[in-house]
Amino acid sequence: MDRADLERLDRDCPLSPCRERFVLPDGVLYFDGNSLGALPRTAPSSIGELVEAEWGGGLIRSWLDAGWFHLARRAGDAIAPLIGASAGEVAVSDSTSVNIFKLAAALLRGGGRRKVLTESGNFPTDMYILEGLVDLLGGGRALVRAPPDEILDAIDEATALVVLSHVDYRTGAVLDMEGIAARCKALGVPAIWDLCHSAGAIPVELNRCGVDYAVGCTYKFLNGGPGAPAFAYVSRDAIGAFEPAVTGWFGHAEQFRFEDRYRPADSIAKCLVGSPPILSLRAVLDGVACFEGVDMAALAAKSRRLSDLFIALADERLARHGLELASPREAARRGSQVSFRHAHAYAIARALIANDLIPDFRDPDILRFGITPLYMRHVDVWDAVETIDAVMAGRAWEDFRTAEREAVT
Ligand SMILES: *Cc1c(COP(=O)(O)O)cnc(C)c1O
Repeated sequence: MDRADLERLDRDCPLSPCRERFVLPDGVLYFDGNSLGALPRTAPSSIGELVEAEWGGGLIRSWLDAGWFHLARRAGDAIAPLIGASAGEVAVSDSTSVNIFKLAAALLRGGGRRKVLTESGNFPTDMYILEGLVDLLGGGRALVRAPPDEILDAIDEATALVVLSHVDYRTGAVLDMEGIAARCKALGVPAIWDLCHSAGAIPVELNRCGVDYAVGCTYKFLNGGPGAPAFAYVSRDAIGAFEPAVTGWFGHAEQFRFEDRYRPADSIAKCLVGSPPILSLRAVLDGVACFEGVDMAALAAKSRRLSDLFIALADERLARHGLELASPREAARRGSQVSFRHAHAYAIARALIANDLIPDFRDPDILRFGITPLYMRHVDVWDAVETIDAVMAGRAWEDFRTAEREAVT
């Protein structure tokens, strides 16, 4: 296998034309679409038009005339098919952190159970939010962190709530959603799934797995732009009984009656709180539209092909530099990323970025490469391995060995 073989694969790949849906700078190998998706080609003009025509021309009328009022749910409906949900089950608002709080606070109300279960390697904000909430609610509630292979056994009759990330942000390891959801159902334990590294990355089947609650962000694999609002999912089965804990006017049954008392909407709108960020929501639609006509199974197959290629080339050329694979080798257990461990991962990441290959670093020793098959080519993987090999062989990373850690890594 050489670069020419990969060029041929790119020529024949039915997903290759999707790359045209994005604006990508020349000469940059972008492997961080798992932290910030690339710019959708349509976004600048649709945001420009929103600003000039809808805001500038339509003014307040645009809440109705331009559909701003329903944009949070419209964006949710656009995301739904990508996560195996139905229309009316997803709303886009707030950040993932805030959505975790909103759902967890609602689900932890009352009841005699005291254990809040999460995974020990879960994304920090998920754990911070739960820590704060458990502290706020008190009443003997405790946050328990179990390693991934002990989660299933840790779900028991004392468990009030389970909060898990479907894909581990460091290693890309995937949890068994179906098995865990089934155990939760059997024991009557509500579970919130964090889909930040799954939505738009791998096939997700919330409805089929019997999942009732999920959250996820839109600025990673969904390409919604920096700081784009997150989504919250509550299944059709669960929405009726769901009692919001954060009770703002956008979740009211009849918002513009300006009633003195809160009455929740009888739809996913009850997950909304305050005025939505219309400009960002518009960009979410552009980001999600990049998936139009794309079969998630085909996308996942390409992700697997790119990742397997990365791992095979790394075995051949990067292992000798001390890069140790941190992601599962088995494709079925891996999200859409390839991570390596190295004691100097941070310095290496900085050196790669200086050489126009953009991965990211995750504390303490993870060098993470996001695989975004909508706009990534097979040759990009080849070129990335070439760059890493050269940076390691030339010890270019040593220039960054004592570099101060930047505020964002
Ligand atoms: C990126 C990410 C978040 C981000 O949360 P925000 O509140 O949207 O910043 C949360 N959880 C996981 C698992 C993530 O990967």
